[in-house]
Amino acid sequence: MAEKLAKSLMDVKEKIRFCSICFNLTDDDPCYICRSESRADGTVCVVESPGDQLAIEESGTFRGRYHVLHGVLSPLDGIGPEDLKIGALVNRLEPEGIREVILATNPTTEGEATASFLIKLLSQNKRDLKITRIALGVPMGGDLKYMDRMTLEHALKSRTPVLQ
Ligand SMILES: [Zn+2]
Repeated sequence: MAEKLAKSLMDVKEKIRFCSICFNLTDDDPCYICRSESRADGTVCVVESPGDQLAIEESGTFRGRYHVLHGVLSPLDGIGPEDLKIGALVNRLEPEGIREVILATNPTTEGEATASFLIKLLSQNKRDLKITRIALGVPMGGDLKYMDRMTLEHALKSRTPVLQ
């Protein structure tokens, strides 16, 4: 029994790999999202890690495709653009007919720097591309006085017009 379990765990471990298109974890390459025609709606959501991808996917709010960067730019740690899956993202724009890139890196200093870098790079590569950043701000049930400075700054920066 234990042997069987160990073997099946090893099988799983052997099968799990990165999708060659979006770099998410998958046991089938390309992954089911990259293969799905119904998700080819011209949007790609860029995240830092497979965990972030999973969180967005489980929220059920996004029906496009993903791209996992596998990290963020961090000059102090020696992590530059070539260490992330950025070139592969640029290469997807044309063949997949991507019209909108949603930058969903985390609201950290590195996540912000990575988003800024991608905005510059992507707008140079494809002029008619819509680039959006997820609105990061005050969580539901939150209280402004307990928010950190970055959260508040974002909440203000990503404000949207209200109907009058
Ligand atoms: Zn994929």
